[in-house]
Amino acid sequence: MQVKSLAVGSMMANCYIVWCEETKDALVIDPGGDASRILAEIKKEGLKVKYIVNTHGHIDHIAANYDVKEGTGAKLLIHPDDAPLLAHPDLNLSLYMGSPFQSPKADMLISDGEEITIGNLRFEVLHTPGHTRGGVCLKTEGAIFTGDTLFAGSIGRTDFPGGSYKQLLDSIRSKILPCDDSCVVYPGHGPASTVGHERVNNPFL
Ligand SMILES: [Zn+2]
Ligand SMILES: [Zn+2]
Repeated sequence: MQVKSLAVGSMMANCYIVWCEETKDALVIDPGGDASRILAEIKKEGLKVKYIVNTHGHIDHIAANYDVKEGTGAKLLIHPDDAPLLAHPDLNLSLYMGSPFQSPKADMLISDGEEITIGNLRFEVLHTPGHTRGGVCLKTEGAIFTGDTLFAGSIGRTDFPGGSYKQLLDSIRSKILPCDDSCVVYPGHGPASTVGHERVNNPFL
């Protein structure tokens, strides 16, 4: 597995381009802005992007959905509970940031336990509500992409619509902490970590 991380948009969200070295099939997680940079990276590596996954529907994770979809022909995936955020600028918070945004509709809805295959890589969808109702993490061998559920040394905000502090902690404890200590955490903002490091050092857990 190859992972390229790009901090995009004014909120510096992490957009991850993840691909299978053998087949060059790729997944783009959270294209939250700077579409031209994302597309340039995809072109440079010669990748075939099969899917775009939004870990949740906030503007800083979806703002380049349209352009990356247009540029790659990839299918857009999100959890059903966050699908309404794509079309509603008040729910995806873009309204409050001064430039209302509507994403294209999802092509497929992904729920807890489903698998996404990219070349020789397999990703399990983990539903992790708390930051939003339909937040998901993507787990693969040796790594987990946690969106705004878990950060290095912190956790996601729970004061937006659909947020719940109790649910967020439940999600982290039941879905993320059971992973191996060595499992790399790729969060929606900030640097990467490991599950073992967060288990011991994250003050919220
Ligand atoms: Zn968010
Ligand atoms: Zn975010």
